[in-house]
Amino acid sequence: MYSHEIQRILKRKRIRIGDHVLIEKARKRYFGLLMPKPEFGEPGTIVMKLDNGYNIGFGAKGLNISKAKSEEPEAVEEEMEYELGKTKKGLLKTDFDPKKPKVSLLSTGGTIISRVDYRTGGVYAVENPKELLHNVPEIAKIVNLKMTNPLNKMSEDFDHEDWISLAKHVAKELNSGKKGVIITHGTDTLHYTSAALSFFLKNLYKPVVLAGAQRSSDRGSSDAGMNLVCASHVAISNIGEVGICMHGNMSDNFCYFIRGTKARKMHATRRDAFRSVNEPPLAKIFPDGKIEITNRKFRERKDKKVGLDTKINENVALLKAYPGSDPKVIDYYVKNGIKGFVVEATGMGHLPTDVSKKPWTTVIKKHSEQGIPFVITSQTIYGRVSPYVYTNLRKLFIESKAIPGEDMLSETAYVKLMWVLGKTKKFEEIRKLMLTNYAGEITPRTEINTFSVEGLNE
Ligand code: GLU
Repeated sequence: MYSHEIQRILKRKRIRIGDHVLIEKARKRYFGLLMPKPEFGEPGTIVMKLDNGYNIGFGAKGLNISKAKSEEPEAVEEEMEYELGKTKKGLLKTDFDPKKPKVSLLSTGGTIISRVDYRTGGVYAVENPKELLHNVPEIAKIVNLKMTNPLNKMSEDFDHEDWISLAKHVAKELNSGKKGVIITHGTDTLHYTSAALSFFLKNLYKPVVLAGAQRSSDRGSSDAGMNLVCASHVAISNIGEVGICMHGNMSDNFCYFIRGTKARKMHATRRDAFRSVNEPPLAKIFPDGKIEITNRKFRERKDKKVGLDTKINENVALLKAYPGSDPKVIDYYVKNGIKGFVVEATGMGHLPTDVSKKPWTTVIKKHSEQGIPFVITSQTIYGRVSPYVYTNLRKLFIESKAIPGEDMLSETAYVKLMWVLGKTKKFEEIRKLMLTNYAGEITPRTEINTFSVEGLNE
């Protein structure tokens, strides 16, 4: 709820949340929709959604607010007709050509199947994901799509059971003759799911393409359409891998297809948030169907049955060590049934040693001796953990028996450790499997030009 003062002003002017309003402040005029107070917002700040989709906050002091007149700039009129969550029937019909290659689309949730409710400015998931197809009619020229909806939730709510269920759906679809599978998914944890599918799908030689969107499909700046078009091209391509297909740069001119075990969300809002870490993306995908291979290391399409390898032990924790951090959290986790750890260390794999007041190395040694594996990855994200350069690294990797995560992403190592613990409980065997490359998660040598900050691997 807004402050009493703001509520009084709104009441006096008969303005309700969701009304199209004019705010005048410091001799400037702003048109937009009056938003409810954000959950964690300041009660004395009025929030308006501008017509370009961005929210802006105004302190109540010196502000004049009024209902916008009809001739003044309008928020998207058509959207106002939507009943929240309901989909107009006409939006659900897309005619696919049975002569086009058969591809399955598994919809799971996230921004890609969401719309903005222009009355409140909040984003909500549409009732029927088929609405997504209506926004991108051009995919009917590429694929004959069968759409199903095995899950419907935001990706922050996913866990290992969802990954297993998705893997089963993918295998079923591919083994029943689809050329490829597209999975639409929230972007926040998309790279965990892509890593999980990379390990869980055995003998995969067909494309499994995960796509999301940073902006809902009814926004002018939405990336949903192009991501879906590019994903459709990948799904019928020669690249028999699990990967993420999202915008490659800030313009709408191409997507990257990034290996499932090497992808990471690197920005909260940019449409090109996903980057390929420590190796070039597999390919550049253009909306007109052109595919430019940027990394030759991929499995080519083969007409083979895909298998499942989903036996895991999900009792793995992902921790981050930082100056002053207390390794006692490890004891807590072990007491609560955790059987393996991925620890995000600093730099090349450093953790506080016995020189510090809270040495991680000694706690790790104690538990490693009891057969609990610790895989070390780096907070730097890019680059490689190295056991030998510094004496302190030797302490960790030799004396404390930690396992170097090579150039694996922490999220990938986390999923992989669950998968490895599903195969063996023997410490030396776990170590061996963690150091073996199964799904492109470890590159033999990290090339220097695979470091990408501002679209450097474009
Ligand atoms: N947090 C939501 C999710 O990951 C929405 C974000 C998105 O789809 O980009 O599912």
